[in-house]
This record gives sequence, C-alpha cells and structure tokens, in this order.
Amino acid sequence: MNYKKDEFFVEKVKSSFLAKKYSTPLYCYSFERIKDNIQSFKNTFKTINPLICFAVKANSNKILLTEISKLGLGADVVSGGELMKALKSGIKPNKIVFSGVGKTSEELKYAISKKILLINAESKSEILEIERIAKNKKKKIDIGIRINPNTDAKTLSQISTGKKENKFGISEEMTLDLIKYINSSKNLSLKCLSVHIGSQILDHRPYEKTLKVLDKILKKTKFSFEYIDLGGGMGIDYDNKNKKLNLKKYCLSIKKFLRRNKSKIIFEPGRSIIGNAGVLISKVIYIKKGSRKDFIILDAAMNDLIRPALYNAKHRIIPVKKSKIKSKKNYEFVGPICESTDKFLTTKKFQKLKEKELIIICDVGAYGMSLSSNYNVRPKPAEILIKKSKIITINKRQNLRDLM
Ligand SMILES: *Cc1c(COP(=O)(O)O)cnc(C)c1O
Repeated sequence: MNYKKDEFFVEKVKSSFLAKKYSTPLYCYSFERIKDNIQSFKNTFKTINPLICFAVKANSNKILLTEISKLGLGADVVSGGELMKALKSGIKPNKIVFSGVGKTSEELKYAISKKILLINAESKSEILEIERIAKNKKKKIDIGIRINPNTDAKTLSQISTGKKENKFGISEEMTLDLIKYINSSKNLSLKCLSVHIGSQILDHRPYEKTLKVLDKILKKTKFSFEYIDLGGGMGIDYDNKNKKLNLKKYCLSIKKFLRRNKSKIIFEPGRSIIGNAGVLISKVIYIKKGSRKDFIILDAAMNDLIRPALYNAKHRIIPVKKSKIKSKKNYEFVGPICESTDKFLTTKKFQKLKEKELIIICDVGAYGMSLSSNYNVRPKPAEILIKKSKIITINKRQNLRDLM
C-alpha cells in the first residue's frame, strides 16, 4: 500500500477506482501485507517455534480469518460468537484458545463440545464452573490459568490489562493455590500458564518483567506446564516514525526463559498481524470554516472507526491524490455523528483539500471494523480484500433496510 506517482494504491489497484466502484466509507485490506506480517512474525520467533493464535477480536471478518488460517495461524477467541466464527472459517479446534473474564456456562459448554486446545480461566469461580461442566459430562478438560503479573505495559491506560487494578487474570498468590486445586481435580487437567498485559506495546521491558513473574511462579510451584501463553500486544507504528517494538530482544528473553522452563510457547497477536494491512477510504462531504482550523467533514464517522473517540488513538490521514499546489491548511477531520468526540485527527499543514475529495485513514485493519456499530442508524461500511489485482468483496455494505 503506497503512492505510485501521486495516487495511493492498494497493491495494484487505484484507491480512487475502489471508492468509485464500492462507494465510501470503505474498508480495504491488502492480502500481501497480511502475508508479510505473518511471515515476519514467524521468522522473528522461528527458533522457539510457537503456536500463533490470531486474536479474532482485532478483526473477525470470516474471509480474512480463512486467509489467516491458511497461512498457518490458529485463533484466540474471547466469546462464543468469535469461537463459532473461527471454526466456520476453517480454523482447527486444536489451534484455538479461549480467553476472557466472563465466559458464560453456555460458552464454556460450547467450547468443551468443540474440543478446543485450551480454555484460559481468569478466576476461581470460572475454574469451578468448568469443573462442574466437566464432571457432568464425565470428561477431563484441559485448562490454562491466566495470571495478572501486575506489570505496567506502558501503553494507553485504556488498553492496559496486566496491572493489579485491571479486571484481568489471577494474582500470583491465588494462582499458586489454584494450581494445587486443579492438580487435585479429577476433571481438570492443567496445561497452560497464560498472560496478556495489554495492547499497542512498543517497549520490550514490560514483556521481560512479565517473563520474570512467570519464572517466579514456576519456581514456586515446580509444576511443569505444557504451554506458556504469552498473549499478544505487540505494537505497530501508527505515527510512521519507525518506532518499533524490539522483537529480537523479546525473543532472546523468551529463549532464556525456555532454558529454565521447557514449554511450548503460544502467542496471541492481533494488531501486529492485521493493523497496518487495512485502510479506510473516505470522502470529504463538506469543508466548514473555523477560526483557527477548518473542519473536514468526512463520510466516515466514529461508528465506522471508534478508536480515536474511545482511546484517543491517533490514525494518520493522507490524501488519495497528492496535489502539486503548495498551499497548506490546518484541519480537523471529523465525522457527521452528533457527538463532539466524533473526530479523527487535528493536523497542521495538510495539503489543501476540496469537497468530494478522497482521503485515506491509515492502519485501521485492527479494531476498526470489529469495533464498528450502527450508532445514529448508520449502515456499516463494506470491506474488500485486494489480492494482487483481484478485488474480493469480503463484507457487503449494510443498507438501511438491514437496520429497520
Ligand atoms: C486483545 C487480546 C489479544 C490481542 O492483542 P493485540 O494487541 O491485538 O495483539 C491477545 N490476547 C488476549 C487475551 C486479548 O484480550
């Protein structure tokens, strides 16, 4: 995805052509980019040969899940719905892990009936519920314990999950007790210690701290786990400033960890697989003069992409066509929704835009469409996948009739 001459292309296709043919706002993904991301993730961690489970909540499009599955990944799911979609996309149950603090009885029964690899439990009550179901079905169920390592992931507070004040995981002391409990149960088989400290992490040190906590627990219990699930959270370069997580260092620390503890590593990356593989193409409806900046009112809104409104996240915005005119403007890019938080970005010195012109919102492949809604009774956008010069509609645009 890049400019050729002055126009933004997704693989071999002009983005203006896509906007014209499929209308806007339009989610558009590059197959090549997804493939590259997966390949480079695999290469980075080649020496530890992990099971890579794509975090379905980052993007739950069925056709994308099928493609990701064909490229060798399993799935990390956080609801019965995601589990069903992962299975329907062709992901094998023995490559699926189930996380989440509030799995209902129905969801647990469904996961058990599908014989997925692991249910990562996040509380004593959940462990007791799994045991109760297992006893009823006269089964022995493989489970993991998700710990809360009390480490600060140094990311946006809204997407941090590994501190003791967060609802996720089980404390170190409690984990030690529960390991004993599970090992004495006839219906539970403890297979995994899991952890996920948050999302959009760009500093490798929180990961290293987490490994230390895992080390400590493993030393204390002396129980050897078949799997250690390190979660996801690897950050991407939203600012386009080449700020990258040092995955080499992370990998080295994991290798050291594995010398002391022989387990199979599981990863649950979402954002780092799909984030930079998607763009949102949008059209300028109106330009409204303000005192210090002009408002660029787009046809995309917070219902299509909520990350800026929800987390104060920044997504770069770039023009579909670079203009030769030198004049620059201060703009605020906003949507049409009746909320003041319905704004994407305030920028200085953007090229002068005209009404009906097209722009690109970058890096929306993760937590874009999956977090979209019908707020303001707005139909959800279409999604397309570009594979070389082939254009595949992977999700039709909703129409108003769908919403009535
Ligand atoms: C959200 C989530 C992930 C994925 O996080 P990314 O930042 O997208 O890599 C992985 N594991 C669990 C348990 C999650 O909740």
